[in-house]
Amino acid sequence: MAPTNRMRELAIRHAAFAWLDQHRAAGKEIFRQDDTSGLHLAGETVRLMPTQQGIWKPSNLDAALSIRTVYRKAGLARPYDDTVGKDGFYRYKMRGDDPNHSDNRALREARRGGLPLIWWLGVEGGGYSALYPVFIRGEEAADLQFVVDIDAAPQPDVSWPSVELEIEPSYRQQLAKARLHQRPFRAAVLEAYRTSCAVCSFRHPDLLDAAHIQGDSGGGLPVVTNGLTLCKMHHAAYDRRILGITPDYEVRINDAVLQEVDGPMLRHGIQEFHEKRLMVLPERRSQRPDRLLLEERYDAFRAAG
Ligand SMILES: [Zn+2]
Repeated sequence: MAPTNRMRELAIRHAAFAWLDQHRAAGKEIFRQDDTSGLHLAGETVRLMPTQQGIWKPSNLDAALSIRTVYRKAGLARPYDDTVGKDGFYRYKMRGDDPNHSDNRALREARRGGLPLIWWLGVEGGGYSALYPVFIRGEEAADLQFVVDIDAAPQPDVSWPSVELEIEPSYRQQLAKARLHQRPFRAAVLEAYRTSCAVCSFRHPDLLDAAHIQGDSGGGLPVVTNGLTLCKMHHAAYDRRILGITPDYEVRINDAVLQEVDGPMLRHGIQEFHEKRLMVLPERRSQRPDRLLLEERYDAFRAAG
């Protein structure tokens, strides 16, 4: 790719990432075809999402700009499980069975140019969350797949050991799966709770997390019924078993903390929620927290306190 073309490709990509950053900072986590078409980026009109196939190369670019994975219901097989290799990197299937199909060539071109892409990940309930920047690291033509590296994509909700660290492969693989689940899970859970903390209804997206009821390491699925939108404070309190949630959607505060005397944060932020019902729940009953999962977690809270 000629250097001037590469600069143009990069300029459009960076403008697209800035556009996504701006919308996400305003609390938008779910994107659709309509939102991401006809954008004016770096002096050109661009669509960010493919209409039908998984690999998207706009006609005014030389390399693919995005890839897409549709939402699959988590059942016996967890979504994306089959796409993480032993090395902890993702595998993305080529289009069809010809490695030289124009879509596959476009993705190869992104690899050659070291060009970052957007990975659209299907969200439970509809739409897509955007993971970026991701890079194509290699390809395995015999298996008709590309190797995708998402280490450069910021993931504030998942702790990720330094890449210098020697990590056991199966652990790396497990972390990698959690990372890919995290963004669409967050998008679906925040949407269901109308971007508000379930406990206190606080609404600032930067200070909200999608909390798991049953943890990822305990086999918890990345589905809305295993999630709660919680503010940073209530998420930490929930994880440290200072705050519990009953299967009837009521808040309990650990006895010791309930007796403590401190400033207004403890009183208004924690103690006053004791025995109150959750302030925010999904409107659709089918999206409300699974009572069995809540019960298991509540039992652990009681055993701790
Ligand atoms: Zn809260």
